[in-house]
Amino acid sequence: GSTWANVPQGPPDAILGITEAFKADPFAEKINLGVGAYRDDKGKPYVLPSVRAAEDKLVASRADKEYAAITGVSNFTAKAAELAYGADSAPLKEGRIAITQSVSGTGALRIGGAFLERFYPGAKKIFLPTPTWANHNAVFSDSGLEVGKYRYYNKDTIGLDFEGLVEDLKAAPKGSIILLHACAHNPTGVDPTPEQWRQISDVVKEKEHFAFFDMAYQGFASGDADKDAFAPRYFVEQGHNIALCQSFAKNMGLYGERAGAFSLVCASAEEKKRVDSQIKILIRPLYSNPPIHGARIASTILNDPELKKQWLGEVKGMADRIIEMRSLLKQNLEALGSKHDWSHITNQIGMFAYTGLTPEQMDVLAKEHSVYATKDGRISVAGITTGNVKRLAEAIFKVTG
Ligand code: PLP
Repeated sequence: GSTWANVPQGPPDAILGITEAFKADPFAEKINLGVGAYRDDKGKPYVLPSVRAAEDKLVASRADKEYAAITGVSNFTAKAAELAYGADSAPLKEGRIAITQSVSGTGALRIGGAFLERFYPGAKKIFLPTPTWANHNAVFSDSGLEVGKYRYYNKDTIGLDFEGLVEDLKAAPKGSIILLHACAHNPTGVDPTPEQWRQISDVVKEKEHFAFFDMAYQGFASGDADKDAFAPRYFVEQGHNIALCQSFAKNMGLYGERAGAFSLVCASAEEKKRVDSQIKILIRPLYSNPPIHGARIASTILNDPELKKQWLGEVKGMADRIIEMRSLLKQNLEALGSKHDWSHITNQIGMFAYTGLTPEQMDVLAKEHSVYATKDGRISVAGITTGNVKRLAEAIFKVTG
């Protein structure tokens, strides 16, 4: 028989299934709200003008194609750290942040998972919010960590279950690893307030937990990169030596370029040196060294004050369009006479809105209205435009009564 005769058929990726159903639908006004990528108001992919400019500069420089270091393009990671932690960050100034380039945010999570699996002195179990980005589970279990969960979302309020969250963090064994979405929680769009973050930091400290931040949307949530980095910066100020995963997929629109970073705040420069050496030992057999093009684009932007300013304006433009689509959707639903409270749509933040629609309602949306999104009721606000928001609101209105 064949060597692979016993390989079972795996389930298809949930998002890919939606894209296929969308493609197969012949209706001209069909709407795809499944994809996690920004679209402009014409529904088209958007390459940031700052990215185009940086790329032009790069091509004109005729740079060589030599290997990067194991930890990547160093003038990229230096600026990535500054963007995340802030130029005034104490550990940054004291040279005690170990950072490596990664294959975007996913690669950062995977390096982090592998590092913890190898070196975390406590229980090798990471607690994830419920729900969380679907890939978190697989990334961490494939890294060899056990995966646990804590309460996060309250489906009755379509908001944060703050009490449940605090209770679960308190109930977790001392020294647990806790995954936190830095901002624009995916899939719910529900973030803690700054005051709630302060309380979370207190509980994490009291329980001697380890805070592992996933920051895939810096700047993309509020439009302000500093504001979006509040949580990890606050934790660091409070003395937490955090882990941090960064992605430039959304905020620079570098999706397929796979530019990201993984960092660990260490107790001293000497500790950082040892951690650095082990990060290299971990990465070398995985892929030797990361791809250079995306990191060079990001680095060109972050190292040029003019281009950086332009980029920050463009990030704000994307965030503002998403915020505007949230209020347009809510307004349209209200104008149709919907009796439901849709304030969660505008209270939530980031790429996604968690509508509160049931899997059955999502099915009807797809089958009868050609509106495609995941069964959990999550819609990508980036897929809404001034041109389709009215029809979308009508469809949601019909489905929800
Ligand atoms: N983490 C979260 C919460 C995300 O939503 C995403 C992307 O959707 C990622 C990480 C990683 O994305 P990428 O690997 O494209 O940077």
